[in-house]
Amino acid sequence: MTGLLDLGGRVAIVTGGNSGIGLGMAKGLAAAGAMLVIAGRNAQKNAAAGQALQALGAQVLAVEADVTQEDACRALVQAALERFGRLDILFNNAGTNIRKPPQDYTLEEWKTVLDTNLTSAFLCSQAAYPALVKAGGGKIINTGSMTSIFGAGFAAPYGASKGGIVQLSKALASAWAKDNIQVNAILPGWIDTELTRQARKEVPGLHERVLARTPAARWGVPEDFAGIAIFLASRASDFVTGTAIPVDGGYSAQA
Ligand code: NDP
Repeated sequence: MTGLLDLGGRVAIVTGGNSGIGLGMAKGLAAAGAMLVIAGRNAQKNAAAGQALQALGAQVLAVEADVTQEDACRALVQAALERFGRLDILFNNAGTNIRKPPQDYTLEEWKTVLDTNLTSAFLCSQAAYPALVKAGGGKIINTGSMTSIFGAGFAAPYGASKGGIVQLSKALASAWAKDNIQVNAILPGWIDTELTRQARKEVPGLHERVLARTPAARWGVPEDFAGIAIFLASRASDFVTGTAIPVDGGYSAQA
């Protein structure tokens, strides 16, 4: 790939890059020439995703990391710098959900969801900041959700974390524009991944409701995130910052 969308020589970290949407985005970045660092807790998933990305011709480092931990976020950035010598792009994409009525959550469950989806993005962004400044600028892309916009009665902590992702993106975009760092959020619609396969088991009628509500009349797939990932990671988006872009087959456009 040449020109505005070329990521040759660029180094990208993708948290949650070993499956689902994160792997779909990482494959896009690989196709555009980026060197990749993928992070997740599960060593087997990391190894399999690393091989899939290498098969596309990318240089890949897979790091076992729990991004709810501050030390792990710092170690992740350090590992990227040791392996590739620079860092240009950070995708904060790791996420989880626990579905139940709001009155039934324990504090521990609330913290698990908030720490995994929101605090991790703050910690990894903080850890990456000095390296991005050193590189002369960079890109941070945070994964939000339709629950960044809409309420979901079975996902109070998830919605709180994903609403927070949008505001965190705007705050970082405002603070770090002077450093030539652009920060944006991607808001996926309903995408067929491990996370939503579980949701379909737990929420009766979800599959049909998503099909009926989505103008594109299908569930999204991880490959739908390759293009937006390349755009937001590349020079093509240098004047785009603080935004939250739905990638949802029209779900959020339709009343
Ligand atoms: P997956 O379950 O396929 O991916 C979740 C990823 O997050 C895995 O790679 C997992 O790796 C990683 N992860 C979870 N917890 C941690 C942790 N503590 N430390 C490091 N990595 C972690 O689901 P999706 O691809 O669907 O989810 C990716 C993102 O997209 C999430 O932020 C999710 O909220 C968001 N999203 C998904 C939607 C959908 O419809 N699928 C819709 C809207 C948003 P490991 O298990 O190895 O730690």
